[in-house]
Formats: sequence, structure tokens, C-alpha cells
Amino acid sequence: MNIHEYQAKELFQKFSVPTPPGRVAHTPEEAEAVASSLKTNHLVVKAQIHAGGRGKGTFKNGFQGGVHLVKTPGQVRDIAAKMLGQTLVTHQTGPDGKLVSKVLVAEAKDISHEYYFAILLDRTTYAPLIIASTRGGMDIEKVAEETPQLIIREPIHPLLGLQPYQSRNLAKRLGFTSAQMRAACQVFDALYRMFISCDCSLVEINPLALTPGGEVLALDAKFGFDENALYRHPEIAALRDITEEDPREVEASKYHLNYIGLDGNIACLVNGAGLAMATMDIIQYHGGRPANFLDVGGGASEEQVTEAFKILISDKNVKAILVNIFGGIMKCDIIAQGIINAVKTINLTVPLVVRLEGTNVELGKKLLQDSRLPITTADDLNDAAQKAVAATK
Ligand code: GDP
Ligand code: MG
Repeated sequence: MNIHEYQAKELFQKFSVPTPPGRVAHTPEEAEAVASSLKTNHLVVKAQIHAGGRGKGTFKNGFQGGVHLVKTPGQVRDIAAKMLGQTLVTHQTGPDGKLVSKVLVAEAKDISHEYYFAILLDRTTYAPLIIASTRGGMDIEKVAEETPQLIIREPIHPLLGLQPYQSRNLAKRLGFTSAQMRAACQVFDALYRMFISCDCSLVEINPLALTPGGEVLALDAKFGFDENALYRHPEIAALRDITEEDPREVEASKYHLNYIGLDGNIACLVNGAGLAMATMDIIQYHGGRPANFLDVGGGASEEQVTEAFKILISDKNVKAILVNIFGGIMKCDIIAQGIINAVKTINLTVPLVVRLEGTNVELGKKLLQDSRLPITTADDLNDAAQKAVAATK
């Protein structure tokens, strides 16, 4: 799960991560009022979307940039008016862009240097890893590609945590002077404490800014949270903004279905994540493209299967549905009955291919055949994928 930058700012305050004051606004007037309350003539207006690269982004109405530095509350209002209700396209949003319905209005700081600083979970060491660079700012992807030696990596022991010597070492390698060392280490420590306390999968600060006065501040933030740990953080779960998410995924999450929307045209309904991956692969192998990943889990109820079908057929791109279920604990005849009942309650408008395997498979297939519903049965995974791909042609 991701959160907005203005929400990250509130978390920063809680964990004593230095960040300039600022608040969210939903209208140009509200943006002006926030700007006035900040009592400064160094102001920044930032589009709030769940994607980075805003500074170099372009709105579909031609307006350049999702981050603007201005001087007066009146200018804040004008910039907010140009952003709100418009779609911002950045290198992270894809060509469709993201609708901007909120802006962050904050005090702008003078910057003498922009650093990159991130903490993430490293899958190879199963431990947190700090990634930092002196080349922060808007082109970190380019830095990583062209000058990988400028990316510093510092693995953290999961039980010992970030040690003071590691922080000092990092600060030194990033070129902080001894006068700035204390401020830098405090920020690293606070960010690491927050990363652990909030069960984050990612905290990315770009830029981490050094001001001429020697302050070290988080000026931008991208967070990822481990969704399996969200139950421990109801206050973070409440920050979820479903308008930023794929509506199909929002609907699926209501029924505890593991669903990820994709852009192909063959919908998949599968039990087990591994089988779901294999199903998507074999569809691709036979020249088709999956419309989604959907794992209904080992003990899917009839209601879940019905809701899953509804989500699949509500996707206008779907030209065929492939059901691939291995009946282990759940027997194939029970699953077949669930599919039949689901198909009867919804208005199925696309071809449906079903492959069942496992306990009571013969009984299950017979039920499907006897149902007289327009269901194509398949003998194995290969056969099922071929039939589904053929059905889309
Ligand atoms: P992103 O483009 O989505 O990563 O948005 P950022 O929040 O990182 O802003 C992009 C760039 O705008 C930063 O790299 C900075 O150069 C600049 N910027 C953002 N906030 C401030 C600020 O308070 N003061 C100054 N001088 N520049 C800022
Ligand atoms: Mg940034």
C-alpha cells in the first residue's frame, strides 16, 4: 500500500524526521489559505498522486510540472487551480496519467544539495538495506543506470538495527562535513525507526535536502507498507486512498480475493498463487494475454467465486474466461457446483473454459456438462490455455 506525500509528512512529524511544514488542499481557495497560514514567501505547490517524477511531469492540458515554487498565497491559488481536476502524466504514471484532486502546499526551502536516501527490504539478504547517493533529485534512475558506482548500499542487521557507526559512515560517504554529521545521522536514525515501527517495505526520500543553514530535511517521500502487517497499524490502513487504485482491485479486496489487474483479454480464475502464475505463463505461451492475476485461495466460498466472476466480466477488455482449479481440500464437484451457480446468477457474455483437476474430478466435469451452460471443459492446462486463446480470436 502507498500513501500520499502530505500523509507521509504527518508520519515524519510523528517520528521526528525533519520536514518543512505544509498541509493538503482540495481547492484553490483552500490552497491559498494554507499558504497564508505558513507565513512565508517561500512556497511550494505539489500535485498529490501516488507516483513520482512530478517535477518533470506534464498535465494533459499542457501545463508543465507538478511541483512549483512560488512566493505569494495568490500565486499558490493560481497554480493549484491549474493542477486540480487535471491529469498529470509522469514517467511513473504511464501514458494515462493520474487525476490530481489534492495538492500539498508547503514552505519551500533553499537547497544547497539534493541527496537520495531510501530504505527497503532486500530480498536477497532478507534484511533492510539502505540505498543512498549524492546524486539525488529527479534523475536517480539515470544515475543508477549510467554511474552505478555513485549508489551507496548499506545492509542493516535485522536484529541489531542501524548502528551509530553505520550512520556516521554513510554520512561521511555522502560527503557531509563534521558540522553536518549530527543532523544527517539524526535523520537516518529517525527514518530507520519509522521504517521498522510502521512495517514499511520502502521509504524513499528524494530529495533528502541539505539547506545552506546546515539542516537536513526530507523534501519528498514515497512509502510502501507491508500489507500483511497492516492489521497492526489501523491508523496507516486508514490512509489508503482507493481513488488511486485500480477499481477492479479495490472490489476484489472487499472479498479477500488476491487480484491484480493486467491489460490482456483472457481473465483467469485460479486457486493458488503458483498455479495462477503458471496459468498466466501458459496463456502467454499460446499467444494470448492474461487480463488479470486472480488467486481465489484454497478455501474459496461460492460467494467469492460469484464475486470473482462479476469482477472478471465487468472488465470490458475481457474476451474469454479461463478457470483453472486444482481440487485438493475442496473437491472438484463442489467447485463445479460453485461455478454453475455463479454463472447462473451473472449474465455471462464471454466464452468460459474450465479445467478441473484433483479429487472427484470426473464428478465435477459431469456436473459442468449436465448443466447445459455454455461452458467448455478442458483436459489439462495446455488444452485449457489453447481453448481460451482460440475463444478470443
Ligand atoms: P518528484 O518530481 O515527484 O520527485 O517531486 P519532488 O518533491 O522530489 O520535487 C521535485 C524537485 O522539486 C526536487 O527534486 C527539488 O529540486 C524541487 N523542490 C521540491 N521541494 C522544494 C523546496 O522546498 N525547495 C526547493 N528549492 N526546491 C524544491
Ligand atoms: Mg522526488
